[in-house]
Amino acid sequence: MTGAVRILIRFDTEDILTPASDDAACRLAELLTRHGVRATFPITAMKVDALFQRGRQDVFRALSRHQVGFHSTSHSLHPTIAEELAQLSGAEAAARFREREEAGFRRVADAFGEAPQVYTQPGGNWTAEAIPALAAWGVKLFYSEDWNGYLDIQGRPMLLAGLHHWAAPVRAPKPFLNRLPGILDEAVATARAAIDEAAGAGQLGLVNVVSHPTELVSERFWDLVPFGGGQNQPEASWESAPQRPRQAVEAALDAFSAWLLSLRQMAEDVEFWTGEDLVAAFPDRAVGLTVKAEAQVALLRLVSGGRLGSVAVGEATLTAAEVLGVAVQAVRAIQGGTFPRPLPVRSLAPPWDESEADTGRQADEIPGPVLVEALGQLASALDQGQLPAAVAAAGELWSPLAVAAGGARAALQVLRAGALPDRVPLPRVALTSRRFVKPAEALHWDWPIFAPGFEAPALRRRAEAATWCLKPAEAELADDRIGAGA
Ligand SMILES: [Zn+2]
Repeated sequence: MTGAVRILIRFDTEDILTPASDDAACRLAELLTRHGVRATFPITAMKVDALFQRGRQDVFRALSRHQVGFHSTSHSLHPTIAEELAQLSGAEAAARFREREEAGFRRVADAFGEAPQVYTQPGGNWTAEAIPALAAWGVKLFYSEDWNGYLDIQGRPMLLAGLHHWAAPVRAPKPFLNRLPGILDEAVATARAAIDEAAGAGQLGLVNVVSHPTELVSERFWDLVPFGGGQNQPEASWESAPQRPRQAVEAALDAFSAWLLSLRQMAEDVEFWTGEDLVAAFPDRAVGLTVKAEAQVALLRLVSGGRLGSVAVGEATLTAAEVLGVAVQAVRAIQGGTFPRPLPVRSLAPPWDESEADTGRQADEIPGPVLVEALGQLASALDQGQLPAAVAAAGELWSPLAVAAGGARAALQVLRAGALPDRVPLPRVALTSRRFVKPAEALHWDWPIFAPGFEAPALRRRAEAATWCLKPAEAELADDRIGAGA
């Protein structure tokens, strides 16, 4: 794809208080359609309700020419998603997301006659615990951006617990539309720099543009006064943000049109992609994959070292959890005398309730019978589709990675010497995928809708646990590679 540039334009559509923002969404969607551009319009359920109340069928029609996504039920109303989930255990948080968001998701699906396949988190409410519900509803892409996402993934498409995940720097001024036409030159220059970079050799060619229809018509952001600082103001006092004069809105639309036209001319091969196009371009090649014996042995060698991240197996990339799942099956097959046979890659849920104590657990060695017991426990948890936070055996808690590493060492020895050793030395274990989670100080817990001083360490910890199930969509970016053999 060298030289090709794919621009993804996204308009988060969420302002329930400003009737003029309905017109803005409609006119932007129609303008994009006139230019032959499909964009992504993630919308909130409350915005859908507001459009029905205001009789705006024209907005539904205009948006349905683009990809419509789900942008939460209530966006900035407290408690927001992060405010609520941060107070719960991991498993409770995953269940709570589904309870609070499912009806809203269905309202968006019903309004457009199609279930959204894209989810964008509102503001700073990035939560890995959203993923099980999103996957169950058929969402394919968790579409974030560099500012509010918890993962530092440098704009590369990733797969996270069965969903595509993308977060790239936003290559448009922020805010954008409400400073047009004045900042048109700046916006063009920003896009030009992004496109030149994207078209460069070895680059993926993806350019991320995110804005909000409401910006076109408002002087300041819609949710700041009614919901800012961690509090809902009384509903009777909610009002729209100050409006821009009509002429300024028209001039801004013309400038947006000019900006759009100029993008096409900036490189030879420019395409506009929706979230759906991104998903289609980077399929998860591990789905349905079976791993042959030779590759299983290579994976066992890798796991036996104790440091695990994503691994490329031929064209496919496996998450650390998927590798661990294959390795444990291979160990059991070697123990049980059914090796060699091809083994499936299974999808696994992350250990939501992994605690810092569990992840840091290290042991020097494990007695053979304890290892066998721990492997049995781990295998039955994996059979349920769940990577456990810890494995209980002989009255102690063991890290699943330590158990798998010990199992891999024992199994390799069985293949060489034919007998399970009495004691198996354990390596220091580390899930290297954790490095993708931003440090707490880089997370935007300062989203102005949160209360001052808001912090959500539990969400960050669970983002780390979720990286068990994180892998780059491009196999060449995996942390390790074993020969094809799959
Ligand atoms: Zn939003």
